[in-house]
Amino acid sequence: MSLIVQKYGGTSVGSVERIESVAERVIGWREQGHQVVIVVSAMSGETNRLVELAKAIHEQPVPRELDVLLATGEQVTIALLSMALEKRGCAARSYTGHQVHIRTDSVHNKARIVDIDDKRIRKDLDQGRVVVVAGFQGMDETGNITTLGRGGSDTSAVALAAALQADECQIYTDVDGVYTTDPRVVPEARRLDHITYEEMLEMASLGAKVLQIRSVEFASKYGVPLRVLSSFEETGCTVAGTLISAEEAEMEQALISGIAFNRDEAKVTMLGVPDQPGVAHKILGPIADSNIEVDMIIQNIAEDATTDFTFTIHRNDYDKSLAIMQETAKKLGAREVTGDTKIVKVSIVGVGMRSHAGIASTMFETLATEGVNIRMISTSEIKISVVVDEKYLELSVRALHEAFGLDQST
Ligand code: ADP
Ligand code: ASP
Ligand code: MG
Repeated sequence: MSLIVQKYGGTSVGSVERIESVAERVIGWREQGHQVVIVVSAMSGETNRLVELAKAIHEQPVPRELDVLLATGEQVTIALLSMALEKRGCAARSYTGHQVHIRTDSVHNKARIVDIDDKRIRKDLDQGRVVVVAGFQGMDETGNITTLGRGGSDTSAVALAAALQADECQIYTDVDGVYTTDPRVVPEARRLDHITYEEMLEMASLGAKVLQIRSVEFASKYGVPLRVLSSFEETGCTVAGTLISAEEAEMEQALISGIAFNRDEAKVTMLGVPDQPGVAHKILGPIADSNIEVDMIIQNIAEDATTDFTFTIHRNDYDKSLAIMQETAKKLGAREVTGDTKIVKVSIVGVGMRSHAGIASTMFETLATEGVNIRMISTSEIKISVVVDEKYLELSVRALHEAFGLDQST
């Protein structure tokens, strides 16, 4: 007998029929003798609906109250799923985040889990119940409801799996695994049987939203075997999907395991900045002070004692960044501030890159052949990212997917 934590995302619990089907699947696992803890998301579209309601009151709702609101989505699904299980004669109990002591820090809307007290869950499991826990939510030290950021139910599931020392954490979603790239963009994308934590972390960080970044960090830190599977395939206990785990010496390493992209990018440039020591700090300091996260940074080699400085940010932070930069430009005596929100980032990821030269040149050649202009480049040991114009996103991803032999036919 093993202990399994299963997470079902929004589309997997998107209707009463879907919830009934999840109940059938869970019972299938119970009948095989496993103990199961279930984590569910809100029904698909519900969190967005709640965000819109809040925004109808205020463009920037009070973060604490937004969390109180958003946490209701998951409370609906835990109750419905538990009812569906009980209807089938399967003993079940639903719990909100605070009821099972998912304790987080106090950073509303993007809280981090710091501790889980698993006593109550263990007691229920020992009494033969299925435990259904609301994903995406927790409670801070003083009892305030918190949420973990969009996609946070993945992290709830992995954190519970770590706390309970579960044998596996299964993430059920609307695709049957992690693919070489988003199968919605490249139909030829191939499902990966296995991917390392490290590669998955890069893929998630670079935009592959199939798993929340923090869930992969958690899984890697605590060595939780993580599996992505489809909840839309026939019910039963078949376990294929994609296993995410540590790198093993005997694993055959693909050069490139996947291509990720991020549409939420924007860039800001300051032109004609007097080139003096401390300029980078003077430009980025006020941005950091406003809690804006900067991704890529480029500073040109100075000509005529001035330089150009460009960085990328999340598109939501564009207006704020531009305003801050205009202020800074005045102070520094820079010539002009410009920006662009119609850009995207496309990245290739693979641990095999470490030991191979020439990957970057293949990437750049492929994009050149397609007539795609590269605006920015950044590299690390296991990834290469480029910023290109938004209109070239699909073209770039497809061309690279083919060039690196990731298509199904190859
Ligand atoms: P859930 O609601 O179950 O949490 P998500 O929408 O968060 O589901 O994640 C699943 C989606 O992630 C898929 O429908 C797919 O479009 C997208 N996705 C992006 N990149 C990948 C990838 N490399 N492999 C698989 N799915 C991906
Ligand atoms: N319901 C939350 C969201 O839509 C959390 C999740 O689904 O993981 O982001
Ligand atoms: Mg998700």
